[in-house]
Amino acid sequence: MSESPEMECPSCSEPTLAAFVSFGSYFTRCMSCDFEGPATSWRALSSKLQGRSRAVVVDENYKHTQVIVEGEASEIAEAISNIAYQGKLVLLLAPNADS
Ligand SMILES: [Zn+2]
Repeated sequence: MSESPEMECPSCSEPTLAAFVSFGSYFTRCMSCDFEGPATSWRALSSKLQGRSRAVVVDENYKHTQVIVEGEASEIAEAISNIAYQGKLVLLLAPNADS
């Protein structure tokens, strides 16, 4: 079972762009080339998210340490905020869609 990111990096075109939440900010970072996208407000963004996602706490080496929550993005946004505000780096993953 792979849990690698699924978004394509605009800089190196590898499918290794990952989405993170840290404190109140959402941003993307490429695991291959360290490209980092502009940060935006997690609260503003989370209200527009649709579909299921999974939130995982990662350490400074981006190793998964703990799955926080999985569910509809709109329903887990608050839980993600709470963890991110504790100073933890939260990686957002999109479970494989079935439709
Ligand atoms: Zn890249």
